[in-house]
Amino acid sequence: MVKVDKTKCIGCGSCEAVCSEIFKIKDDEKAHVISSKNSKCLKEAIDICPVDAISK
Ligand code: SF4
Repeated sequence: MVKVDKTKCIGCGSCEAVCSEIFKIKDDEKAHVISSKNSKCLKEAIDICPVDAISK
């Protein structure tokens, strides 16, 4: 299951930029997982996150 560690996330928006089907920045300025499907862009999002907040 994909998870964003909210204590690490700085809300940079990179995960949403590369994988908007799974990640969305919400009002708390953290990335939220909006879908549990294992899209190809998930790996890209994990790789691009500057603080390694995304795990699966
Ligand atoms: S790429 Fe990482 S730090 Fe940036 S919004 Fe996504 S989870 Fe947060």
